[in-house]
Amino acid sequence: MSLQKLQAQLQADGHSALLVNNIANVQWLTGFTGSFGSLLVTPRSTTFITDSRYAIQAAEQVKGVDVRTFGNPVRFEHVVADLAKEQGLGEVGFEPTVTYGTFERWAAAWPDFDLKPMPDLIAPLRMIKTADEVAKIAEACKLADATMEHVSRLIQPGVRELDIHLDLEFFIRRNGAYLGFEPIVVSGPNSARPHGKATERKLEVGDFVTIDLGAKLDGWNSDITRTFVVGKATDRHREIYDQVLRALLECTQKLVPGVPTKDVDAHARAVLGEKDLAKYFGHGLGHGLGRDVHDFGGLSPLSNDTVAVGQVWTVEPGVYIEGFGGVRIEDDVHVSENGPVVLTHFPRELMELG
Ligand code: ZN
Ligand code: ZN
Repeated sequence: MSLQKLQAQLQADGHSALLVNNIANVQWLTGFTGSFGSLLVTPRSTTFITDSRYAIQAAEQVKGVDVRTFGNPVRFEHVVADLAKEQGLGEVGFEPTVTYGTFERWAAAWPDFDLKPMPDLIAPLRMIKTADEVAKIAEACKLADATMEHVSRLIQPGVRELDIHLDLEFFIRRNGAYLGFEPIVVSGPNSARPHGKATERKLEVGDFVTIDLGAKLDGWNSDITRTFVVGKATDRHREIYDQVLRALLECTQKLVPGVPTKDVDAHARAVLGEKDLAKYFGHGLGHGLGRDVHDFGGLSPLSNDTVAVGQVWTVEPGVYIEGFGGVRIEDDVHVSENGPVVLTHFPRELMELG
């Protein structure tokens, strides 16, 4: 169905062909799970191209389109050149994710047709998830919740950030999924680094500990963040945490169709601003979630997106104070016809652990 949508889009925009080689797009359009494959899509035909390593897999997974596999000494460029000739194509569009090096190689190999840069036609299609796709993201979120539950038991004085990191990776892999991204485990002053890496630092009483993790299950991502306190929380811990939590909860409720996403982001800044914390919130409020962890779209001051049914967003306000520490709380939210549905369920109340 997604392929038909793309073909209709090509037709409507007057494009004769698009070469899709962003693998996340190829996988989404075909169901192929291998790491090398491209699609030559025209308004009337689609050809899937891969090499001999994936011949058996492609025959099993890629249905309803022409499949061409090649092996030494034939190269990808030869196959595309043949197809363009067979179909009489005078120009072929390419995606904005193609690197300059690849573009140069292709341009040299294909003197018989023009290569045409195209806007990203697929990302906006991917933004609106089907019920099946949302169900898969929800499964990935379930595993993210379970992982958070599992590693929260390790939060106590003397445990290294690295060990929490390693344990959560094992947990995700043992459950048949992959890390969606390099997990973030940061404690104490390190928690003021929104994307800090786990270090050998041992947790201490009085630390904020922020864990940001995602499981990629069956090709679909989850993305969750929780922040804990080691030992008893101080008034300052609570003041910061409560404000970030309010921003999360209120912004989640604002994810209803028709709302400009920059307004949702602005609300987070307004809530944090009540306690003079907005200056410590440098990143956007959230991003699209799907086949990629950072799928198309943003909840940010710079975004021109509008909330619509079928989208899945992360909502992740944060406050990061150098020398003190930081708090981020992140949920994944599906925009349904009946309003926002939160897919991540690990508790959000401040937990004092250890
Ligand atoms: Zn995250
Ligand atoms: Zn995120």
